[in-house]
Amino acid sequence: MSKKNPEEKRKQNAKKVYFASARVLKWKQEESLPGKLDRLLERMGLPERFEKDEWVAVKTHFGSVGAHRIIRPVFLAGVVSGLKRAGAKPFVTDTVRINGLDYLDIATRNGINQLSVGAPVVLADGLYGRDNVLVRAGDILGEIAVASLIHDAPGMVVCSHIKGHINSGYAGAIKNLAMGGVSALHRGCGWRCGRGAMHSIGEGRLFWDEDKCQLCYQCEDICPLECISFGKEGEKEKKFQYADERCWRCGRCTRVCPGHAITHEEADPEQFMQALAEAAQAVMGTFKPGKVIFINFLMGIQPECDCMPGADVPVAQDKGILVSDDLVAVEKASIDMLQGCSPLPDSAASDAGLKQGDDILLELHKKDYRVQIAYARKLGLGSTDYELIQI
Ligand code: SF4
Ligand code: SF4
Repeated sequence: MSKKNPEEKRKQNAKKVYFASARVLKWKQEESLPGKLDRLLERMGLPERFEKDEWVAVKTHFGSVGAHRIIRPVFLAGVVSGLKRAGAKPFVTDTVRINGLDYLDIATRNGINQLSVGAPVVLADGLYGRDNVLVRAGDILGEIAVASLIHDAPGMVVCSHIKGHINSGYAGAIKNLAMGGVSALHRGCGWRCGRGAMHSIGEGRLFWDEDKCQLCYQCEDICPLECISFGKEGEKEKKFQYADERCWRCGRCTRVCPGHAITHEEADPEQFMQALAEAAQAVMGTFKPGKVIFINFLMGIQPECDCMPGADVPVAQDKGILVSDDLVAVEKASIDMLQGCSPLPDSAASDAGLKQGDDILLELHKKDYRVQIAYARKLGLGSTDYELIQI
């Protein structure tokens, strides 16, 4: 009887994460990154995973005006083609964060439309961001409004662009599910059960320091809910005002303020990260086991989220694409890969004086994003023990 050594045993139980490097060493289409994505999808056994004609949501982030480092349409088209080859019926989707008509326009401007990706491009929570189903979401959040199309879809491919984020520090698949799988608003409880539920954990009012304000109005421009104003036309004195009831504490106004004139009481950072995992669990709970796969794109790793109006240069070199059907494993593999990245010159990372071995996103945002992954594991969303298989 053959005896397995501990490493062999570990590998047997470890969750498989498939990896395609962004490096291109042979000049053949199969060796290009879109070509490698086809092979990654083959490894995921799509025909066995999805029924014929089964609707499958391809969740991505449509970006923002000026945010051009989103997952490129060529990769979304690759995912759609793979699903179609498997007999499924895919649609490409995201939830709204500004009004829905404008958000669809942004998707088109950023190159995501039916012609480019080969499938319908739709808003998961409707044009008004209110189409959702309330779902139980753990002790921190209570319940949360999962976007209807994601709630009702039998299958999903979660395409996540890995980057930094104001609130979550690291934005990967957990954040994509937790913020992006949840509706902007709910008909009964507004943003409190929707997207803002997580952002506002424990956060109080916004404060404005008049002496520090340069009246540049960047805060007014960047607010996704248009809840900031500086008085009426013709008024002499310009004073910061915001609609507290509508503000979901997304933090964009504080982030862009050059004079640090806007502050707000910070959420308990650990609880916030845990809430992300809770929301991800609520979204995942609407699928049967095995019906969701995760594709993390470690490319164009910019310091901020795709929802910001602009995209700074990457802080780390492109690494490639990771695929798994285990949420925690793909996230752990992604952050492990980020750890090995050198901070790129002439980027926010070099501006911050970071060096090889530093945790770039942790240092840039000072948010311990690892809590998301540890808590997701605790909630049973997957395993941190993975085997990386390079194709
Ligand atoms: S935190 Fe600032 S930008 Fe965000 S919704 Fe509130 S007022 Fe608007
Ligand atoms: S971004 Fe800051 S400095 Fe500019 S108007 Fe707003 S509060 Fe004032």
